[in-house]
Amino acid sequence: MLTIIATASLVAGSHVRSADSVIGAVLRDGLLGSAVIQRLVDVIDDSNVIVYLARGNCPRPAIACAMVAGGGPDVRYIRINFRLPLGLGKPGVQRKAELSVAIAHELQHAVEIVGWPDVVDSATMYAAYTRSGLDRGGDHLDTDAAIRAGDERRAELRRRRH
Ligand SMILES: [Zn+2]
Repeated sequence: MLTIIATASLVAGSHVRSADSVIGAVLRDGLLGSAVIQRLVDVIDDSNVIVYLARGNCPRPAIACAMVAGGGPDVRYIRINFRLPLGLGKPGVQRKAELSVAIAHELQHAVEIVGWPDVVDSATMYAAYTRSGLDRGGDHLDTDAAIRAGDERRAELRRRRH
């Protein structure tokens, strides 16, 4: 964890960070040009949650997944893994768009965790989703709000292309 803290810094002071050049570039685009991503990052910046975006594995078929990487009452860490490259075989622009959509979706999950101060590890995260009636069964935890955040980001990108 300390290694990641020392090396990961995208926007000085922001709680949403990535040391990955591809993910970092798409996050930066979102911070500059996406109302959806700006709104989510604002909520996270005002909280005790630090979010790291990184390449990594997720249970299939998920292309991205959020997990609580530890913490306590003062600071909590969320790691969001992205299975890159996303959408293999698609043109680069579309691949970046899908990554941005996935970032918006997963940041909404981080915002949900911001709202649950008791969530400090995977067990308490699972309990919070279950208690909130958001557990959809099996290993798949998802929320309408996260799906909506991704859809809104996709709509933004579509508007920009026309
Ligand atoms: Zn989700």
